[in-house]
Amino acid sequence: MPTESQLPVSTKSATKFEPGTAPAQRRMTARRRLIAATRKLRELGSIASAVASTSHPYMAHIVPMRRCNLACTYCNEFDDVSNPVDIDEMKRRIDHLGRLGTSVITISGGEPLLHPELDDVIRQIRKTGAIAGMITNGYLLMPERIARLNAAGLDHMQISIDNVMPDDVSKKSLKVLDAKLRMLAEHADFHVNINSVVGGGIPNPDDALTVSKRALALGFSSTIGIIHDGSGQLKPLGDRERAVYK
Ligand code: SF4
Repeated sequence: MPTESQLPVSTKSATKFEPGTAPAQRRMTARRRLIAATRKLRELGSIASAVASTSHPYMAHIVPMRRCNLACTYCNEFDDVSNPVDIDEMKRRIDHLGRLGTSVITISGGEPLLHPELDDVIRQIRKTGAIAGMITNGYLLMPERIARLNAAGLDHMQISIDNVMPDDVSKKSLKVLDAKLRMLAEHADFHVNINSVVGGGIPNPDDALTVSKRALALGFSSTIGIIHDGSGQLKPLGDRERAVYK
């Protein structure tokens, strides 16, 4: 396998990103530290119970809303017609996962923020004792919406950002979403991770590095994921994408 320095560099250099305003580094107030410490204790408890017994699921994804407000060309997990799954049905499914002893329940989509009763979904997850996570494209976040997610008890949020500037493949772009990230830095009590997907056909894979650096500057964690197909198989990466992933 060639080393990174031997790999062909993409024809474009990393897209330059200039934040509109100074980075709003996430402030860890005493209250946020307490919430983070409590969350960490619950996570350690879930790991301990997974080590002690393999007879329960550790993590489950639920999809209360398959509809999405975007249409990334690589995505096979959304449509533009589905109605929200009825809240009573969602509660019944979550309670079942709770009875199975599920440790982490992550709300996925589609776009979860389109579900009109998302806060009730989060509350129901927390009632089971599970850790409540959510994956979102972030477009619909506003300070008041973030406050409601805090109040509902959300533990983790992941936002996927694919590129620096929107293009034909994806509009999940740092340029568009940076204002939302700054809102999260200011208002979110939950943990925030920024994930960049490589392998989906984004013209400039180096954008993932720019996104990661921005996430860390704002005080979030950052990961880089690999695109998968409809059956869950990871797609092969090009040389430059592999180098970025490493
Ligand atoms: S935002 Fe997420 S769910 Fe929506 S089309 Fe893009 S990848 Fe799919």
